[in-house]
Amino acid sequence: MEILLEDTRIVLGDGVALRFIPADQKRPAKHQLLVEFADGSALVATVQMYGGMWCFREGEFDNPYYQIACTKPSPLSEEFDAVYFAGLLDEKGRKKSAKAFLATEQRIPGLGNGGLQDILYQANIHPKRSMASVIDQELESLFLAIKSTLWQMAEQGGRDTEKDLFGQPGGYRTVLSRNTVNTPCPRCGELIRKEAYMGGSIYYCSTCQLR
Ligand SMILES: [Zn+2]
Repeated sequence: MEILLEDTRIVLGDGVALRFIPADQKRPAKHQLLVEFADGSALVATVQMYGGMWCFREGEFDNPYYQIACTKPSPLSEEFDAVYFAGLLDEKGRKKSAKAFLATEQRIPGLGNGGLQDILYQANIHPKRSMASVIDQELESLFLAIKSTLWQMAEQGGRDTEKDLFGQPGGYRTVLSRNTVNTPCPRCGELIRKEAYMGGSIYYCSTCQLR
């Protein structure tokens, strides 16, 4: 997220929790950024595990992740269509697992570990599945799952595992997340599993999602 202040920008990356604190409420003692308004209210940002915040003058930010993100289309845009998505699966992409393909190297800016769990579930693809084994029909399902899942997450105010500016959880009910691990898969009844993979947790149904 970018906040534009005259000639200066504040960029808040994934992993930064931003809260609005009204003037009469106590602010959290620990925080990494405090923006105080004239009426005494404030924006407070905290980072728990990882996350990045930057402040810079227009055009003076030399960060490859930020620059790539600015040049690529959002997965919610019309420009991000089936042809564009198929083009992302190049020789390098085919060597990756489904999770690595979707969520690393800024291939799809904005799509991270939290969002990809339900996307792969809807496409019946296991997070560890090699992209080299994905057939055209599955790639199309994956494209449609990206579009529909991200739209639902955006329209419903984010996932229920995240909190908004006012500390309220999002309205999108995650199928696969820490909220649903060890509960039955809504499709087949198998218990939803959690595993550590590539520096984060993956959640999956071992029956519905093909390895
Ligand atoms: Zn299942």
